[in-house]
Amino acid sequence: MTYEEIIQFHGHECPGIAMGYRMATAAINKLDSIRAEDEEIVAIVENDACGVDALQCVTGCTFGKGNLIFRDYGKHVFTIYCRSSRSGVRVHFHGDGIPQELREDRSALTKWILSASRDSILSIEPTFIPEPEPAKIRKSIPCSFCGENVMETRINQLGGKPTCIPCFEKHVGT
Ligand SMILES: [Zn+2]
Ligand SMILES: [Zn+2]
Repeated sequence: MTYEEIIQFHGHECPGIAMGYRMATAAINKLDSIRAEDEEIVAIVENDACGVDALQCVTGCTFGKGNLIFRDYGKHVFTIYCRSSRSGVRVHFHGDGIPQELREDRSALTKWILSASRDSILSIEPTFIPEPEPAKIRKSIPCSFCGENVMETRINQLGGKPTCIPCFEKHVGT
């Protein structure tokens, strides 16, 4: 996907999408130099802001495919790595080189980020991490109250009966 297509997917252009684009492309370029062709990749994101949309477009890692993992650390960090070799890259957007006068001007900042030298905005380093659990196929169990099927890890017990979260809250909350 081109940068223009990513903006369309995201819905607007903003500093976050520019950051995510620079981070994701830097990570992929670095990873491509160490990974075997077509080796399956996984992305771990440490925030859930605009930039993650760019990462999804650039890497093809998505929640639906189970190869995008969200860790709620509130950091501008993406880690992308290969499942089989367990090696990858960790990208941190530090933004050290951002001129002070641009910090309040979102559109100028966005443009600046897109053309900034890599090292003035981010650091990138190799990383070796244990493999996260692959996406599992989980069993579904019908809720005793509404009858709808629920992933077994989301089932509560109410009086010994399997219960979905909304039904559980309805009964316990009153
Ligand atoms: Zn945005
Ligand atoms: Zn229910």
